[in-house]
Amino acid sequence: MASHPDSFELYDLRVQVLATSRPMVCSHHAGDFFELHGENLILPPGQSFSIYALAALLPLLPAKQRVTHPNDWMTTDAEVACPDPNCGARFRITRTGLRTFRHSEVTTVPLPDPNAPV
Ligand SMILES: [Zn+2]
Repeated sequence: MASHPDSFELYDLRVQVLATSRPMVCSHHAGDFFELHGENLILPPGQSFSIYALAALLPLLPAKQRVTHPNDWMTTDAEVACPDPNCGARFRITRTGLRTFRHSEVTTVPLPDPNAPV
């Protein structure tokens, strides 16, 4: 629940490598993952993640961080294919929890004046 008037919430995400019946030709390993907390991508110590796979995931991650309508495909669809057409890897995006942020702490752009005419 928002505790400040300028609070908002985003989901924390975990993106995990899934194996399929097709071989993985990139450097992925089933079970590898990273987490996204706000703008910060967090890798477990010693683990890497393909920049090509990351490039395929990046457009979706900010949308998955936000609350979406239950009927929206962005809510239900959670698996992304590796962009290498010869690679069998999939990446599952899971919402792991809600984190609260304050507008005033993440941007210098002011909120609109609530008393301004529409
Ligand atoms: Zn791959």
